[in-house]
Amino acid sequence: MRMMGFDREEKKKDIPDPLSPSAAETKAPVRSLVRIRFDGFDRVLTYFNDRFDLREGDRVFVSGRLAGRPGIVQSVTTKFKIRSEDFERVIALAQTPVRGTYVSVKDKMLSYDAEAVSPDVFRAWVLPPVEPAEDGAYETIYGDGYAIPLSDPRAAEDAEPDTFARAPEYCPRVGYICVRNGVGRAFVEGRHWYEVEFTISGNVIEEAYCDCPFPGLCKHLLATALVLSVLSRQGALDLDRDFVLIGRELFFNMLRHNGQQVTV
Ligand SMILES: [Zn+2]
Repeated sequence: MRMMGFDREEKKKDIPDPLSPSAAETKAPVRSLVRIRFDGFDRVLTYFNDRFDLREGDRVFVSGRLAGRPGIVQSVTTKFKIRSEDFERVIALAQTPVRGTYVSVKDKMLSYDAEAVSPDVFRAWVLPPVEPAEDGAYETIYGDGYAIPLSDPRAAEDAEPDTFARAPEYCPRVGYICVRNGVGRAFVEGRHWYEVEFTISGNVIEEAYCDCPFPGLCKHLLATALVLSVLSRQGALDLDRDFVLIGRELFFNMLRHNGQQVTV
C-alpha cells in the first residue's frame, strides 16, 4: 500500500511555480492590459497583467470567472490609465519546453526520451497553477485504486457497462500519458482536464485513480487503459520502456507556441 499522502505532498512541490525564475521568463514584468481569447468562448476579454512580460500569442491563465481555462493573448497595450481593481488579472503564463525525439503513432506522438515533456510541464500547459490549499482542505484517498488488465480492459473489475460504452470516444481526448519506472500519470480532457495516476506492472494497470467527480472506475481511467492497450497490442508502443504519449494536435500546438528543439 502506497503512502499516498506523501506522494501528493511531494507532487505539489514539483509543480512549477509560474512566478519562479526557473519556470517563467526571468524578464522583468511589464505592466499591460491584454486582450485574451479563450477556447470555446466567443468574446475577447481584457485583463490586467503585472506579473509577466506578455506578447501576442502567449498562452495564459487568468483570475475571475474564466479561471482554469487557457486563453491566448490577442493584443498587448502598455499605455493605459485604469483602476486595476476593476480588472481580473493574468495569473500564469504557460510555457512548455518541448524537447526530445517523437514518432507519430495513430493520433498521438510517442517519445522514449528521458527529456520528453514531463507531467508537470504538460499540466502547466492545460491547467492553472495549484492554489495553496485552504485550511482543512486536503485530498482524501481511500482504497487501493482500480486495476485494469491491458490485455483486455473489458475484464476490469468495478467497471459499469455505461463506462465501457463511453470510454472509446474518450481515447482521442487522452492528451498525455507518461510512464517512468512503472509509475504513470495521464491527463484526459472532459468537461475539464482530469488527472489520472496509476502504476503499471507487467501488462496490468494498478492503483489507478482519476480526480474527476465520478464515484467509481471512470471513463478517463478506462480511456487511458484503452489507449495503452491498443497501441501495445498493435506493436506501436513498448510498455516495458519509459515513455511519453502526447495528443498530436496538442503537441503541435505546444510546438507552435514554444518553438523548441525536437525531432519528429
Ligand atoms: Zn475520471
